[in-house]
Amino acid sequence: MAKPKIYLIDVTNRDGVQTSRICLSKLEKTMINLYLNEMGIFQSEFGFPVTRHETNYLNANLELAKAGALSPIRLEGWIRATKEDVRTAFKLVPQIKHLNLSISTSDQMIVHKFKGKLDHKSVINEMTEAVKDAYKLGAESIGVNAEDASRTRMDYLIEFSLAAKDAGAKRIRYCDTLGCDSPFTIYERIKLLAEAAGIPLEIHCHNDLGLVVANSIAGAKAANDAGVDAYINTCVNGMGERAGNADLVSVILALKYAGSMQDYQLDEQINLKMAWKICKYASYAFSVPIPINQPGIGANAFAHESGIHADGALKDRRNYELYDFEELGRGEPEIIETGRKITAGEYSGIKGFRNVYEKLEVAFVDDAEAARVLELVRYANVHNQKPLVDDELKFIAQHPDIAHKIFTMNP
Ligand SMILES: [Zn+2]
Repeated sequence: MAKPKIYLIDVTNRDGVQTSRICLSKLEKTMINLYLNEMGIFQSEFGFPVTRHETNYLNANLELAKAGALSPIRLEGWIRATKEDVRTAFKLVPQIKHLNLSISTSDQMIVHKFKGKLDHKSVINEMTEAVKDAYKLGAESIGVNAEDASRTRMDYLIEFSLAAKDAGAKRIRYCDTLGCDSPFTIYERIKLLAEAAGIPLEIHCHNDLGLVVANSIAGAKAANDAGVDAYINTCVNGMGERAGNADLVSVILALKYAGSMQDYQLDEQINLKMAWKICKYASYAFSVPIPINQPGIGANAFAHESGIHADGALKDRRNYELYDFEELGRGEPEIIETGRKITAGEYSGIKGFRNVYEKLEVAFVDDAEAARVLELVRYANVHNQKPLVDDELKFIAQHPDIAHKIFTMNP
């Protein structure tokens, strides 16, 4: 049997954006998908197929995937595990191939959230019916989310997971919805679950106790120890409900450098060199600064001041640095215009606009094409409500039809 592996499923465009005070425009969500793809992330949970303002964005991103611009990453949508959500998802987003279906499994939520509408038995029935329907409508892979798995009775969680597997689910998402697990409890529980159910597990953790990365890698280790693949859920810059999900870059660093984790096989597609770019972009898009002490990415992650540390780091970086800044895509100088700068905004004219694109070395076939892209860039500025970054400008010029779709909403 092949050695089990650890893959990453990033949920920035789902758990990240459903967080209080966090918003991403549909263009920004698209850019995150593109960067995640460049970073070799296995799958992006790219949004909500039953939420109508997502429809054009989701369909447009699936078109990008079909055209090869968003490949090999898998784009997967999050819905509730109900037949109704499955039906709506395929009606609004007919080309969707990957879904995660979510339902609560703890006594707390079954009793106090469903309030008699569902009991333990009907939770399993609802979920299995939804999984089967999703395959009938064209799904290729389904993950089943056990919401509040960390507070779910172990025997019920196993029964639920076996039923999901029988219905055709490819993975079970173990959700530590409240962030109450510790590395010790999650290791034990995931090991039991993986051994009993024999199905790949997703590890979805929250940071309410500051344990999110530790819990995520402990869970992944347990799954691999039991012989199944693990899929850690991450968010760029550790966004996510309340105190956040597992920070994407911290998880990769922990899998590469934490004690004994080198014995486990991280998906070899992962390219950590994209770390700096995606974190900086997400920080700008979220309008949330990166803390100076953020692992790998913070301003202080490779800064030394005290005499002994500075001397030691200069003599040999391994004295005080666990990994190299180059590995995270850091170290290139960033050029900031200090003289005249023409920017492209919602009221731009053609001359200034052409100047902006000349600097990006993007040429247009004729005036009509330039005028069309200019119009789209104006809309993009209204849509984002902040100046566009170079990669966004390039994306619009490269994929004007897709950009048009992304900016279009019909409430
Ligand atoms: Zn969550």
